[in-house]
Amino acid sequence: MTGDALAMPQRRGACPGLSAPMPTGDGLLARLQPIGTIPLAAFAAVCAATRRHGNGVIEITSRGSLQIRGLSATSAPRFAADIAALDIVAEDGVAICCNPLAGLDAAEIFDSSVLAGELRHALTQASLAPKLSGKVSVAIDGGGVLGLVHLAADIRLGAQMKSGVVAVAVGGDFATANPLGVVSRPDAAEAVTRLLDVLAKRGRDARARDIVATEGIAAFQHALTELLIGEALPRPMRRSAEAIGLHGLRDGSLACGVALAFGHADATALERLVEAAATCGANGLGTAPGRTLFAIGMTPDTASAFAGAAGRLGFIVRADDPRRSVVACAGAPICASAHIAARKLAPVIANEIAPHCGGNFTVHLSGCAKGCAHAAPAALTVVGTPDGCALVADGSARDAPFALVATDELPVAIAQSLRERKREGAHV
Ligand code: SF4
Repeated sequence: MTGDALAMPQRRGACPGLSAPMPTGDGLLARLQPIGTIPLAAFAAVCAATRRHGNGVIEITSRGSLQIRGLSATSAPRFAADIAALDIVAEDGVAICCNPLAGLDAAEIFDSSVLAGELRHALTQASLAPKLSGKVSVAIDGGGVLGLVHLAADIRLGAQMKSGVVAVAVGGDFATANPLGVVSRPDAAEAVTRLLDVLAKRGRDARARDIVATEGIAAFQHALTELLIGEALPRPMRRSAEAIGLHGLRDGSLACGVALAFGHADATALERLVEAAATCGANGLGTAPGRTLFAIGMTPDTASAFAGAAGRLGFIVRADDPRRSVVACAGAPICASAHIAARKLAPVIANEIAPHCGGNFTVHLSGCAKGCAHAAPAALTVVGTPDGCALVADGSARDAPFALVATDELPVAIAQSLRERKREGAHV
């Protein structure tokens, strides 16, 4: 890391935006959470700015944010100024996550992007963001085909089949969040503001799941007393369609989802992808949870041409691509805390598991026990340690390992673990 990078302020647990990039092992990291569709010219300009000011690699996170690495104290403000001049609307406060195709998806019960706009306005009026942890988030699922089932959030709003009401829950993903009841659609932004105020009153580090664990949901329910108009309907299992592939939009055009292998891509490859999108008639790109990009506004013919071009550029265009079974953090030498080169190992491991794996086996490669890339349990988690790779079965990077292997033995150890799971009857 450069000396000037070290001099930058660092707030633990903060999400590094453009104005406050965070020091990492390869300089400063800036994060941008775009809202809605990014015009193609603006996306190409982000790629060029990344090459000019950073290390030329762009990441899309599991929550759909863009990350740019390798900035310095000198180049980070220039990068921020270049991005500010573009036609990109980005989150600047509490992270509010909507359905990936909000406002475009014909299957939506309500347009989550409209509610998100109301909420941003309310939060600005209430000046709540500075009182909250940078990791606090709100998920708004308007009921489209691409849901937010696996996205954990402090506050969740979900469409109900009964029109005009919104289900409110706290502290978890679709399956684990704690339901509070339903509010009317016009009261939804006010409800979230009150719930975030519960967090703010408990301090800058407060998170909804921790409050639920220690106090239960009483404080949240009390905050909504006169807004709750009923209990949440029993939750039918909500399935989210596969993001990779083609999706019909309200205006009759198509969106095509592709993913970045292991969550990162060279800015030049992304520029080629922008060119392919333009050639195929797309009007923009959208980032989405699951390290995914959508090209928006194509016809069936041009969408399949776009998918072909994306595949040739190294992007993931098939849901069963074995690279999707491997999650890796930046690892060494990018992250100073790493004991293994997680990102470099990822394609090797993906190749190793490809012949055996049907998509139900996730390998998480973590450079250290922090487990940044995947907080949830994985079938196999590999944790870099000073003594080698610790292997954890059906757990997270913080759980107890069942074995310790040398890095060069890792592919063989993972293949063996897969075979054993199959022998035990596990569906991998
Ligand atoms: S898990 Fe550890 S090594 Fe990987 S990016 Fe996070 S801090 Fe760095």
